[in-house]
Amino acid sequence: MDLIPHLIDGKETESGDGARFATTDPWTREPWAEVALGGAEEAGAAVAAARRAFDEGPWPRMGFAERGAVLHRLADLMEAHRDELALADTTDMGKPIADSTSKDVPRSALNFRFFADHARLAAGDALPMDSGHHAYTRFEAAGVVAAIAPWNFPLMLETWKVAPALAWGNTVVLKPAEDTPASAAILARLALEAGMPPGVLNVVHGYGPGSAGEALTTDPRVDRITFTGESGTGRAIARAAAANLTPVSLELGGKGANLVFADADLDSAVAWSIRAIFHNAGQVCLAGSRLFVQREVHDEFLARFTAAADALTIGDPKDPVTQLGPLASHEHYQKVRSYLDGAEADGGTVVTGGTGDGWVVRPTVITGAPPTARVRREEVFGPVVTVTPFDTEAEAVAAANDTPYGLNAMVFTENLSRAHRVSAALRAGTVWANCFFVRDLRAPFGGVGDSGVGREGGNFSREFFTEPKAVVMAV
Ligand code: NAD
Repeated sequence: MDLIPHLIDGKETESGDGARFATTDPWTREPWAEVALGGAEEAGAAVAAARRAFDEGPWPRMGFAERGAVLHRLADLMEAHRDELALADTTDMGKPIADSTSKDVPRSALNFRFFADHARLAAGDALPMDSGHHAYTRFEAAGVVAAIAPWNFPLMLETWKVAPALAWGNTVVLKPAEDTPASAAILARLALEAGMPPGVLNVVHGYGPGSAGEALTTDPRVDRITFTGESGTGRAIARAAAANLTPVSLELGGKGANLVFADADLDSAVAWSIRAIFHNAGQVCLAGSRLFVQREVHDEFLARFTAAADALTIGDPKDPVTQLGPLASHEHYQKVRSYLDGAEADGGTVVTGGTGDGWVVRPTVITGAPPTARVRREEVFGPVVTVTPFDTEAEAVAAANDTPYGLNAMVFTENLSRAHRVSAALRAGTVWANCFFVRDLRAPFGGVGDSGVGREGGNFSREFFTEPKAVVMAV
């Protein structure tokens, strides 16, 4: 069986005690590779390497153009190794290969290109003062960044953190999720091949609590922690980081509302709503898992939406025609199943869906779930959606905002004023009007409430991954 090693200080290594764990292919439900299992020792070694590379190495001292050239070369190499990277994520977590190949890997390469160019082109402020003093800003690299990632978009979310951190001159220790170690190991290898000095990008594998993840969050030599994952884990990381006053960026869970008004283009609303909940088998923080449909069109929408859900191609994620594969792990499958099992007792009706073969959950549509139902309140993180009718705009907004989460929401309407009005009233970090998942990497990305702390993207990533300095000069 293959071994997926750590990459520390430019060297592929096993753990000091030789500890390993297996990573499982959720379609075959068999282990497919062994992974070096890191703990405090390996996390500490990786932080030490990143610290040395930051304090003494060339990376933070290079110009933006030179650093950017390395990041662009890395993006080229990722494109050249597209199939290998795509297969790694698909084998690790069951994402359809068509998505890994055509969406995740290209977007991951774009993350490096975008942030390399953004850092090179971004300007500081020049502030000529009335007093005759001249003030200006400098954006200086923060230092060592710990990046802790989830399993649902492994490579894409890792590069979303690693790319801006590196572009601004930081060094990084990346801990991929334990379910999806493979693509990060390839990324680290390609970074060396692209000419990144040893110690600049380190990858340590392991678990969270009591393992490599927790060790990174308590290490005083770490200057920034960027985390994407569950809200409960975010709280634990914020507590750990508080001891060292380490700044954290937390991109957490969601319970996205999707509002379909009677004046929407229904063809488009059905197509986007299907993507919003069933893409990546619903294992998306941004999933539109609470659909609210205006009563006049509710029955027609539900019929068309349910038919489109039933028409999705379920199967082997390595088959290019598959649109929905298995859930990422047995543990996660059991969690999602518990919501299906409880839905009817909570007052809902399963219109279509339920469990499939192995760790598959079929596209599941639930009606009649009251606002108190677990499936309507908690993040299911699977292909499960509740559909609820509403009458007025005010009622729709109130229902959408009735959640501790606030990552994103969608609104479908052909009425321009309504689109603006509702977008303003929704409590969410991102609102998509008549679309879903469309990203501009300059835009702020993050959530309110239990969905997170801080924003990343464009200048927002710059603020987090640098120490902005003011220089005030008498002239
Ligand atoms: P998770 O919180 O279980 O794990 C995420 C990472 O944190 C893993 O690498 C894990 O090993 C590590 N970890 C766990 N406990 C830790 C601890 N105490 N200290 C340090 N590290 C620790 O999340 P997951 O199940 O991998 O991912 C799914 C969650 O991520 C969902 O809630 C989803 O909504 C969220 N998510 C959010 C976004 C976003 O941008 N807001 C994007 C994708 C996923």
